[in-house]
Amino acid sequence: MLHPTLCALSLVTLVVAQSRQTPLGLGTQNDVPGFDLDFNELRLVQFSPNSPAEWVTERERLQAKALGWDYMDMYTFVNAIAATDTPFLGSLSTKPRFSYPAPNSTIVAGVLTHLSTVEPKANLEHLTSYHTRYYNSETGRASSEWLFAKILAYTTELASEEQQPLISVESVQHPWKQNSIIIRISPLDALDSDPITVLGAHIDSLNKDDPFRRAPGASDDGSGTVTILEAYRGLLVAGYVPLSPLEFHFYAAEEGGLLGSQAIASSYETAEKIVRGMIQFDGTIFHKAGTREEISVITNQVDPALTEFLIQVIDKHLDIPWVKDVYPVDPDTGRGPSSDHSSWTKAGYQSCHPREGQFNHTNPYVHTPDDRIDISPEFSFDHMLQCVANAADSLGY
Ligand SMILES: [Zn+2]
Repeated sequence: MLHPTLCALSLVTLVVAQSRQTPLGLGTQNDVPGFDLDFNELRLVQFSPNSPAEWVTERERLQAKALGWDYMDMYTFVNAIAATDTPFLGSLSTKPRFSYPAPNSTIVAGVLTHLSTVEPKANLEHLTSYHTRYYNSETGRASSEWLFAKILAYTTELASEEQQPLISVESVQHPWKQNSIIIRISPLDALDSDPITVLGAHIDSLNKDDPFRRAPGASDDGSGTVTILEAYRGLLVAGYVPLSPLEFHFYAAEEGGLLGSQAIASSYETAEKIVRGMIQFDGTIFHKAGTREEISVITNQVDPALTEFLIQVIDKHLDIPWVKDVYPVDPDTGRGPSSDHSSWTKAGYQSCHPREGQFNHTNPYVHTPDDRIDISPEFSFDHMLQCVANAADSLGY
């Protein structure tokens, strides 16, 4: 008997092969305007942290995604290394290990009063208006350019005279169409050796059945994107100046195999930057009807000490409880969902990952045309505000 997951993959392959209507069954696709996507292109991917990298076609990569399996695409590194089983990320520099005192910030309460659902709602309405934010599409590129302009506008309008010279906003170009964005707020008298705190989310979206079709990506991960953007806006309004560098990372191409976050984590390793902690926001708006409102705290592919700190922060500052959870992992293959914190974990940095709720209660519309804010009251901006508060107060150490 075939293993169930193999059965599922075979079934998908069969269905795809039998139907010319199913786009994943089509041949080479470079003929859709605005997209750079070739189903037959070979990609080197790693499906789980402990499995070897393997060559698959773009079509096979997308079929795996349709089954709920994430992966790390080694695209960025293919030209840098021979195609071996040795992961490149994590081998470039040694990292200090940080411990985290109990959260005792006195500034958090003041920042929280500036947060609201108004701007996140408007920003998410805009982000979900793109046909797709697929990372190698023109609309994917446009969405990252709009976000960059929005961040610059907030900075110009809201940053205080003291903050202005401390803030930089960088659009990071990649070998694909969509850009990543890095906002940095430096402390006064910054040193290169200052440990950096990183808040992350991903800009791109994906239609799992057909990357050419509509993918509004409201929850995944427009919600995380506007969540950390609102935290940034709140810190600007509050006039916050950090004691060590604070960065907001908006990654391109998470759905393409954590491509943007891997590229940035790799560049930080190469530059021997010190990162005190990285927190990823991927899914912050969906609250399943009939379930307790809570924040889930992912415990696999993260740093235990930073995760315990995150739990203390939630206890101290949020109105809703936390619950520990894991991304489900196939016991035989090690495959399962993931997000950009995994890039930082793999690079040897300490990361953590709160989510909108337990994986069992997850948004069923993820990676479909129905991942949109107007389809169900389960898309809750009040719930998102708790996650924004979590983003804002997670720097309170
Ligand atoms: Zn996703």
